[in-house]
Amino acid sequence: MKDAEVNRERMVRLIASRGVRDARVLAAMSEVPREAFVRPDLIDFAHEDAPLSIGEGQTISQPTMVALMLEAARIGPKDRVLEIGAGSGYAAAVISRLAREVHAIERLRSLGEKAAESFRRLGYENIDLAIGDGTKGRPDAAPYDAIVVSAAAERMPDSLKDQLAIGGRLIIPVGDRGRQTLKRITRLTEHRFDEEILANVLFVPLIADEEPPEPGRRDDP
Ligand code: SAH
Repeated sequence: MKDAEVNRERMVRLIASRGVRDARVLAAMSEVPREAFVRPDLIDFAHEDAPLSIGEGQTISQPTMVALMLEAARIGPKDRVLEIGAGSGYAAAVISRLAREVHAIERLRSLGEKAAESFRRLGYENIDLAIGDGTKGRPDAAPYDAIVVSAAAERMPDSLKDQLAIGGRLIIPVGDRGRQTLKRITRLTEHRFDEEILANVLFVPLIADEEPPEPGRRDDP
């Protein structure tokens, strides 16, 4: 086995020891080379269970967090999945091994272009990556069996719930910088949703490109 494979196996054993049981998620994480998604100067740390800088003030999430989110999303082989906040593309790549198709969106062009290049190099052809503001999801390809949001929303966005198929799962960190909880929303029927709190987490914020002005707020005194 090559070094990278040995390191990946060690990373996956660690993730399993931290409580992730889903065999398909663990297998997908053994398959996807995380080193292909980290900055060249951080390659030696590619298989540490830690978030790493990917530039532009953003990070590739900690492997255990990716695994927990994807386990919670209960992704099946026929599923269509949306990931918001593709960043390096690592989580989308793991999802692409679990699902039939992945739609992803990343706000920062420089990161999105690098992610798309990594997908091409690895031959991951079932990922469709868009550049843009994903706070309102991607209605163009909705509905989704699962939506995974990789940055924290201050409030639960209704537009994402609307893009879930019946039975679909939305995994999303909600809260401000100080206090965020990872939630799973399951769409039970057209109008009924179940909401569960999964963990306390810390994600970079989801940034809307054009924040509407707060009602009643005035900039001048
Ligand atoms: N899943 C990524 C983690 C990236 S961190 C990975 O595996 O590497 C979160 C990402 O969300 C950042 O790249 C950030 O640019 C992006 N982001 C923040 N706000 C966004 C928005 N409104 N729409 C799309 N992406 C957004």
